[in-house]
Amino acid sequence: MKLLYQNRELQEKITELAERISADYKGRPFLAVGLLKGCVVFMSHLLVQIKGEVEIDFMTISSYKHGTQSDDFKFIQDLDTDVRGRDVLIVEDIIDTGKTMSFVQKYLESRGAASVETVTLVDKGQRRKHKIKPPKYVGFKYNEAPFIVGFGFDHSGLYRNLPDVYMLEQSDIAKKKQIR
Ligand code: 5GP
Repeated sequence: MKLLYQNRELQEKITELAERISADYKGRPFLAVGLLKGCVVFMSHLLVQIKGEVEIDFMTISSYKHGTQSDDFKFIQDLDTDVRGRDVLIVEDIIDTGKTMSFVQKYLESRGAASVETVTLVDKGQRRKHKIKPPKYVGFKYNEAPFIVGFGFDHSGLYRNLPDVYMLEQSDIAKKKQIR
């Protein structure tokens, strides 16, 4: 695996994002909606640096394997909070084709949120296939081919606990398949 972002770099970027978000939402309480499970590490580091009134809630959605439409999702866990009239900030680990984000943004708007903005730690902007409202807060732009893991990013459920972010080589994926 090849090191991509060191923990120190990740922390610095998250501090910058938290400062921007705190300034933009100054005097305006908001609801941070994390998309599980990928958001967990990023969201916890981000939240503790945000100043102001923040509530949190979570959604777990799962896409149907071969679905290509942006509404091919099922809810594993819906929000507990009524988002009507609320300023909502979606917290995502990575946006790739935009399929997930397109669904989530539309869903929150349809539930009557007053505003919906997005923060993502990593944006694979060049791979976008679905129309989304562009994330207002982006940590890193990443457009290389290798899949990334670590600091919350998984591959088949593993690696989320690594403190840094790595690029997973094709050979690592092949090796893992042999072991299983
Ligand atoms: P999208 O719906 O935008 O195509 O994909 C978003 C989801 O794909 C992310 O929430 C994440 O679960 C997964 N994903 C896309 N690229 C990567 C990657 O490089 N590494 C990891 N770990 N997950 C990724």
